[in-house]
Formats: sequence, structure tokens, C-alpha cells
Amino acid sequence: MGNNQIPLAVIGTVAIDEVETPFGKRDRAFGGSASYFSYAASFFTPVSLVAIIGSDFPSGFRQILEERPIDLTHLESALGKTFFWRGKYQFDMNTAETLETQLNALHDFNPQLHFRKNPDFLFLANIDPTLQLRVLDQAGKPKAKFVACDTMNFWIEKKRTELQHVLARVDAIVVNDGEARQLAEEVSLIRSAQKIHSMGPSKVIIKKGEHGALLFDEGRFFALPAYPLETVFDPTGAGDSFAGAMMGYLAKTGNTEFDNLKKAIAYGAVVASFTVEDFSLDRLRRLDLKQIEERLAIFRKICSF
Ligand code: AMP
Repeated sequence: MGNNQIPLAVIGTVAIDEVETPFGKRDRAFGGSASYFSYAASFFTPVSLVAIIGSDFPSGFRQILEERPIDLTHLESALGKTFFWRGKYQFDMNTAETLETQLNALHDFNPQLHFRKNPDFLFLANIDPTLQLRVLDQAGKPKAKFVACDTMNFWIEKKRTELQHVLARVDAIVVNDGEARQLAEEVSLIRSAQKIHSMGPSKVIIKKGEHGALLFDEGRFFALPAYPLETVFDPTGAGDSFAGAMMGYLAKTGNTEFDNLKKAIAYGAVVASFTVEDFSLDRLRRLDLKQIEERLAIFRKICSF
């Protein structure tokens, strides 16, 4: 796919995961923040993926991305191993316990972007903030119209200063409740959002797993529950899929006003609800826009009174 007309780009991890949930275990699962993000976004718009993999990366995983309108021009291949994450969920599946993180190929990653036309929408998915900054230097504002980011405890603990520099340069942040509290060093989510807002992003989106999501947008507030699911099989990638669908919808509509952002968040919640129904990207691979729209219609009924 040529990359001249692609409205959305993401930098993040493309990973090999080892995941254990109360319902089963998978040793070499296809994962990574940018993998889930780009796959979810691709239901709405073509997306360009900026990431690095190692020589151990299975060709079958690459083919999964190739099934979709995902531009892989900036998917770099390095010698050595792919980013590896090992995590476990207990019966409360809202937070993963990280058992091991091997950065591997991330150590050698120095993304060089060569877009013919810069994407208007840019997402800095969960990855080393130093790399998020390098991408911001090349494709951030004013080249991009709307920039959002994610992060996690691993980077908040190790790279807070770099992360602060990222936050100062983005329009929006999408994080989960635990990360928001850790980032802001606050207990209340409302105060956390206010404090994060003062660090840079005008829009703060806080995901609360099975309890839904909150949007703080310069004094305006929106709360959405999660789609009520009977079966949660593997929550890995829910957050990235949420962000991918949200950004994909924003990029497709080209509108980041409050009301459209609410709709984008609803799409995010719906696509994430599919992701958790199976391991890895398996459920997303059996998904289409029709199923997304059907679930959105049910969700809309549940939420209105
Ligand atoms: P989530 O949407 O939060 O469940 O993200 C899950 C994905 O994040 C997994 O597939 C992991 O490969 C990836 N991941 C885990 N730790 C990190 C990290 N420190 N930096 C970037 N990506 C990570």
C-alpha cells in the first residue's frame, strides 16, 4: 500500500506475548500496542504502522497485518529478537500483572519517517517515551492536526521526564485509571485528569476496563460504561483496540469536536469489547464493520435514558 494518502499513523510495539488468564495460556501470541491499535483502526481508515520487529518475528503474524489496510512501509526489521511481554491476569481482569518485559529490538529502534504526505492524525501508542519524542519531532504538530498518546506504569516509573516532554506536545492522552493515578500522583480520577490536563493534553480519556471510560475535555465531561459482556477471555490489547478504533473514527470523520469525540469513544469501547472475547487478535480477525455497527446500536440503547 502506498503511504501518500494515509490519514493516521501509529508508533508503538509489535510484540510476541506470553499471556495467561484464568481461562488458558498462550505462549507465543501476536501482541503489541501498535498491532492492536492498527488492526482496530483499520476498520475505519487506512493506518500507517511505525514499529520494529526482530528476526524471530513469525511471517504468519506479518500476514495478519497484511490482511488489512495497514501500511507497513515503516515496519522495520532488525537482527535479534522482537519485543517480548509476559503477563498474567487473575479473576479481576482489569489489570495485567507484568511478569517479564524484554525490550530486545526496541534498543536499536531509531524511527526515520518518510511520509510523502504527513498523516493528519498521529497516535503515540505505549512505547519508550524517547521514541515517542523522536516521532513527534518528525511528524508531530504542526504537521499533524491531532496528536494523542498512551503510556503505562513501566514507562511512568522509568522515563517520567521524557514522558512529561511528550505530554507537553499532545492534544489528547488515553490511559487507564491506574496509570492516570500514577501519572498524576492523585487518588481521585477527577483530580488526576485535571493534573494531567495541566501537563499538556487538552483532552484526557481515562479507561476503566469493565467499568467504562471517562472523557475530560476542557471543562466538559462525558462518561460511558463498558459494553456489558458475558465472556471476557483475554483482556490483552483492550486499551490499544479502544484507542485504535477511537482514533480511526476521528481520522475517518476528520472531526475532533466534543460530540464526535464521544462517538469515537463509543466505537473504541465496542471494538475493545470484541478484542477481549478471544486471545490475541483472534476475535478482531473475525470482525467486520457490520458487527461493530450492530453492537454500537445495542450499546446506544443501553446508554440512553
Ligand atoms: P493493553 O491494551 O494495555 O492490554 O496492551 C497490551 C499490549 O501491550 C501487549 O500486547 C504487550 O505486547 C504490550 N506491552 C506490554 N508492555 C509494554 C511496554 N512496556 N511498552 C510497550 N508495549 C507494551
